[in-house]
Amino acid sequence: MKKTKKSYGQSNQKFIFVTGGVVSSIGKGLTAASLGSLLEARGYKITLMKFDPYLNVDPGTMSPLQHGEVYVTDDGAETDLDLGHYERFVNVTLRKANSVSAGQIYDSVIARERRGDYLGGTVQVIPHITDEIKSRAFTAAQGSEIAIVEIGGTVGDIEAQPFFEAIRQLRLDLGPQNTALIHVTYVPYISVAGELKSKPTQHSVKELRQIGLQPDFLVCRSEKHIDEQLKAKIGLFCSIKTNYVISAKDSSSIYEVPLSLHKENLDALVCEVLGFKKTTKKSSQIVSGWQKICQIQKNPKKSVKIAVVGKYVDLKESYKSLHESLVHGGLANLAKVEIKYVDSEKLNIKNIKKELSDVDGILVPGGFGTRGVEGKISAIQYARENKVPFFGICFGMQLSAIEFARNVCGIKDATSREFMSDAKGGKQSGNVVIDSMIEQRGVVDKGGTMRLGSFKCKLSTGSTAFKTYKKNMISERHRHRFEFNNQFKDLFEKRGLIATGVNQERDLVEILEIKNHPWFVGVQFHPEFKSKPLSPHPLFSAFIKAALK
Ligand code: GLN
Repeated sequence: MKKTKKSYGQSNQKFIFVTGGVVSSIGKGLTAASLGSLLEARGYKITLMKFDPYLNVDPGTMSPLQHGEVYVTDDGAETDLDLGHYERFVNVTLRKANSVSAGQIYDSVIARERRGDYLGGTVQVIPHITDEIKSRAFTAAQGSEIAIVEIGGTVGDIEAQPFFEAIRQLRLDLGPQNTALIHVTYVPYISVAGELKSKPTQHSVKELRQIGLQPDFLVCRSEKHIDEQLKAKIGLFCSIKTNYVISAKDSSSIYEVPLSLHKENLDALVCEVLGFKKTTKKSSQIVSGWQKICQIQKNPKKSVKIAVVGKYVDLKESYKSLHESLVHGGLANLAKVEIKYVDSEKLNIKNIKKELSDVDGILVPGGFGTRGVEGKISAIQYARENKVPFFGICFGMQLSAIEFARNVCGIKDATSREFMSDAKGGKQSGNVVIDSMIEQRGVVDKGGTMRLGSFKCKLSTGSTAFKTYKKNMISERHRHRFEFNNQFKDLFEKRGLIATGVNQERDLVEILEIKNHPWFVGVQFHPEFKSKPLSPHPLFSAFIKAALK
């Protein structure tokens, strides 16, 4: 049943809204995630959610170059990359409901209108769209004491208006001590004047106020520390207490953010605004994990260089989780990981040695389509032949099977069904080592053919994977359409590429390993979606360990 205004009022649910101003990409997501981790460490049951004002129904179909990586949850939702930050910083498992786009909101309101649910009434942004936003916020918040809600984009964006209006209503519905509003802004440093400028922040708060929202906190991102004097000035113009203006100076590592927000007292002040009693927990208990991480990052014992051979190397955001997971693998080994992004389109048999001879490990990440494929295959061949530790993820695992078929088993036309049916027509013949589930299993309906979300995988005892996970049943997240063709399994195993992980329900190969190689593991799933700085994913730890040898 849809919640009425009245039932919102009776709920004990507390919300923290995180909005942004001045410019985008100033780290609202990181602020939300870091605050979440601090509140969790204080003992509160929290959750995080992201409201994205774009009209796409989900980011699944958006180019990683435009929107960064598509992050996948356990329940198979294709979400915004900020959910990745959230899950890496806190111990909650997020679900589909935690990532909501304006497209979804409008989609459901319009579907309801088509069904006649509004009984002939006029359907409007207020109250219908805003009610839907509020109801989704409550759905995602269920089971938590504090729900942190981040609004994508910046204040003033046309598409974001209904979300800001919904926050205004919620603050009214829920009453004092039940919500807090944190506005993240940018305070530019003008080097010629040698000064930090607060005017853009003032304007952005003015914009918020015009729509009836007065922030409780300002988190001011800047190149330099915001001193007491400037905080007082910003506070005065924006009607905010000086100590509620938080300085968030650029830091060398994102894992310093919880530490610096805690130093500025943000978590304690937020608890005060939300009417919570003072905690008995000491600072050392609240931030000890982050402190340990930052210490390792400042004084690494070793260092290692990893090549990531991919297509989207120009925009690091498209490999966000992967990048972080490699860093986590480094943390587990007290090592600094230098990541060299290699554009697979520029890689060929002639320059491969030059490009890859200086690295200690090679990783081929997930990907789609034919562009840059041959470069990736060459990199895999190089890793296999030169015994360089290799980690293939999803597409990377599929291509390692194709490489093995071509160069070890002599199946020169080995290919993937994906390359036979791409937009450009593809090559229509070849030995299909990577096939689609549909062709492989005679399914005709092609709708919803992506394998999304968590699936179980059984590991063979004695395999590298088994030794790494130290258990024989695992569960990992997927996002792909094509699968290893089991017809090649026996042949490959005879030649030394072994399927060491299998999904038994559907008889699907999930992991491939090469015998007689220091470390060659290809996985059909995306382990990068489950790695956290405070608990690095075992496969990334093991890969970095092998690369360090
Ligand atoms: N393009 C491949 C598939 O759809 C791999 C996808 C991926 O790497 N996420 O199966």
